[in-house]
Amino acid sequence: MNYFTKAKPYNSLNEYYKTKYDHKVSKIALNANFSCPNKDGKKGYGGCIFCLSGSESSIINRLDDLEKQFNDSVEIINNKWPDSLYIPYLQANSNTYDSLDNLKLIYEKCISLSDKVVGLDISTRADCLDEEKVKYLTELNKRVNVTVELGLETTNEATSKYLNRCQTNDEIIKAVNLLRKYNIEVVLHIINGLPGEDINDMLNNIKFINKLDVQGIKIHTLLILKNTKLAKIYEEGNFHILSMDEYVDIVCQQIALLKDNIIIHRLCSDATKDVLITPIWSRNKKGVMNEIDKRLRTLGWYQGMNYTK
Ligand code: SF4
Repeated sequence: MNYFTKAKPYNSLNEYYKTKYDHKVSKIALNANFSCPNKDGKKGYGGCIFCLSGSESSIINRLDDLEKQFNDSVEIINNKWPDSLYIPYLQANSNTYDSLDNLKLIYEKCISLSDKVVGLDISTRADCLDEEKVKYLTELNKRVNVTVELGLETTNEATSKYLNRCQTNDEIIKAVNLLRKYNIEVVLHIINGLPGEDINDMLNNIKFINKLDVQGIKIHTLLILKNTKLAKIYEEGNFHILSMDEYVDIVCQQIALLKDNIIIHRLCSDATKDVLITPIWSRNKKGVMNEIDKRLRTLGWYQGMNYTK
């Protein structure tokens, strides 16, 4: 692949959508108020130490509320891109953690929100999938493009334990294989800058992903958010927060190592001022992304240049 003639020296989500849909596509984040087995005791209690997210409510309110959330976002998007297509994105908590009947109600509602909906993105945990649910996703996939996003976060199982992820690498492998058996696109999330991790851990995450049949990756910045357990640990002064320069350097190395057919959905995270404690530089998401592009161009680096089987 010749990245020097492309807008970015990596496979960006925008270009992927442009090629696939020949249109601007906007993802619309929706909160369907699912719960999480790592909070309610099925898998663990208290959730991951960095997590700050929602609660449960009745299914009727959930459906009404989805419509309102969707329409509010569409109004804003239409001011800028009136021709945009939409992909509802179920983001908060574990969006396959419910009975199949309830999942069907929510997913069907999501794809019926507009005739401009071309896909459905579902974010969840690896342990919240089974064959029955995935078979249903295959049916849905015939009508809109279904993508499932799984939180890997780190392959270092000691870190994972420290984070209270209550998840193993084997569970991730099993879930990816199940989804791919039914041809569902998979995106894995990782976090850079986790307590106690160094560049080798962060590159190991890429090596792990390269070995799997996944179609996309989201790279996140570790954000310390108010009212999380991690915020308490941070306040005790026990770990290093990456500077923007360190973060850019790590992401460039990860891109160079990443297999060149994987789409990069995200290169950094941001959070609103009211919840973010640190790093403050993450508020300038565009600036971080520009810096990553600039660094890659300066070095003559591109996605996959260091990938080996
Ligand atoms: S699995 Fe996801 S929703 Fe559940 S506690 Fe962890 S980060 Fe939060």
